[in-house]
Amino acid sequence: SRNLVLVLGDQLNHDSAALQDFDASVDRIWMAENQEEASHVWCHKYRLVSFFAPMRHFREELRANGFQVDYHELPSDGRKARKSSFSRLLRETFSQGEPQKVVVVHPGDDRVLRSLQQTTADCGVPMEVREDEHFYCSIDRFREWAADRKSMVLESFYRTMRKEHDVLIDSEGEPIGGSWNFDKENRSSFKRGGPGEIPEPPRFAPDAITRDVMEMVSSRFSDHPGELDDFDLPVTRDQAVESLEDFVRHRLPDFGTYQDAMWGDQRFLYHSRLSHAINLHLLSPREVVEAAVGAFQDDIAPINAVEGFVRQILGWREYVRGVYWTQMPEYAELNALQCDPSQGVPDFFWDGQTEMACVADSMRLVMETAYAHHIQRLMVLGLYAQLLGVHPRRFHEWHLAMYADAIDWVSLPNALGMSQYGDGGLMATKPYCASGAYINRMSNHCRSCRYSPKEAVGEDACPFTTLYWDFLQRHRSAFAQNPRMKMQLMNLDRKDAAFLSKVRERAGAIQSGELPV
Ligand code: FAD
Ligand code: SF4
Repeated sequence: SRNLVLVLGDQLNHDSAALQDFDASVDRIWMAENQEEASHVWCHKYRLVSFFAPMRHFREELRANGFQVDYHELPSDGRKARKSSFSRLLRETFSQGEPQKVVVVHPGDDRVLRSLQQTTADCGVPMEVREDEHFYCSIDRFREWAADRKSMVLESFYRTMRKEHDVLIDSEGEPIGGSWNFDKENRSSFKRGGPGEIPEPPRFAPDAITRDVMEMVSSRFSDHPGELDDFDLPVTRDQAVESLEDFVRHRLPDFGTYQDAMWGDQRFLYHSRLSHAINLHLLSPREVVEAAVGAFQDDIAPINAVEGFVRQILGWREYVRGVYWTQMPEYAELNALQCDPSQGVPDFFWDGQTEMACVADSMRLVMETAYAHHIQRLMVLGLYAQLLGVHPRRFHEWHLAMYADAIDWVSLPNALGMSQYGDGGLMATKPYCASGAYINRMSNHCRSCRYSPKEAVGEDACPFTTLYWDFLQRHRSAFAQNPRMKMQLMNLDRKDAAFLSKVRERAGAIQSGELPV
């Protein structure tokens, strides 16, 4: 054949740059369910289905459109397992007749890019890597923006993107609504009276194709963590579009106000649950942003909600991708707080078995849906890992294994950088460290918890609060020069030695596992 077009599992868009000059009479598409991808981290079953089911649906759509697709399924039977890695499969394909060229859109994982470069070079097949047009900001454009900057703060990147792409900008070049930022309006909790009825995102019952994948995953990866019974994610573009429309109409109007809120037994609150569909390219960030801006123009959603949402997509999402590709591969090894590589995530990060009500609630969602919303990721699970001293790469590896929306380019900067401060402040100007008091303010979890958020020592002490004071003590000198940590360190300095030594003792027992929490 002429071109062998590789479509990776997170590149499921029909208008992909790789398909633009596709000639069905001479070109072929190549797709493979990746065993390595599934098992190099101990992946959540739900996550596996959330990748393989959309891939198989996409294959069917391509074939229906007249494309020739060479698709490598993972067999259900573990014993008949094809052992082949992605690169071995590709070599096998080449051995049956070399294409003139391999065409691929820039992958979302540095390891995959390197492995493809290696394999094609070894086999002497030229490879053309095309820009991923799914994103607003190309890697080169980000590099240009980041050049000569001491710190890469999101805010300045976000404003540049807003102007460059003319999103929520008036005819004078000013931000619509009179401000770039409505954060102050966007920090409400549900404290008075709880959240009430929140419309749930649409659920998509598994069809025959998805059920096949579920069977394969249940038998082949039976010992992997997580549950599958509740699988309801969109697996086709049509379903993803339906999810987007539903969100914009029913939850976007309150998205801003309750962006940071948490509440027990509530699953998605006012969040979109769209990250999986966007990351797989079933939706484009442009259509998502346009839908949100349209809701503002049609008076369906207020500016604080729409701006807050646009900031996530046009700001954060593009920004973390830029950080990833301009900082890799060194970024993956950063460990600014010198955490011990032997410190992994605690056991309850795999099964949710803990008495901490906030962690148990977040983990239940992760186990059942391979999802948690942003504040659960950052201020419950991420916070706990950071205070405990988990090595940032190991936290990222756990994150990559457990979430349906996790792909290296987006998980790594968020998990290692923003959440764990592994990059020493490239992404966040201060560590997101807090005690149980923060969780108490933003949720109702502490009311039903066996621990008390105000206590740092004693039997009922909240593990977050104990570990918080210990964390500040451990890293006092590393934070001494950071003006944004001044208040927290001043409060630390007011604590007496007896208190601090009890904190250390209890924190040590939690870290070693001697004291189960
Ligand atoms: P919403 O709250 O509805 O937000 C809307 C959209 O904005 C999301 O769908 C997502 O596309 C985008 N977005 C928001 N914040 C970010 C961000 N920080 N980076 C990139 N996109 C963002 N997001 C992922 O897509 N994949 C990840 O692997 C991932 N890992 C994370 C790890 C940690 C420790 C933290 C703190 C955040 C991580 N995020 C990740 C960002 C964010 O938490 C999720 O995108 C979001 O919770 C997904 O739920 P949602 O679709 O309901 O989002
Ligand atoms: Fe979480 Fe501590 Fe509150 Fe319990 S007391 S819910 S562990 S913050």
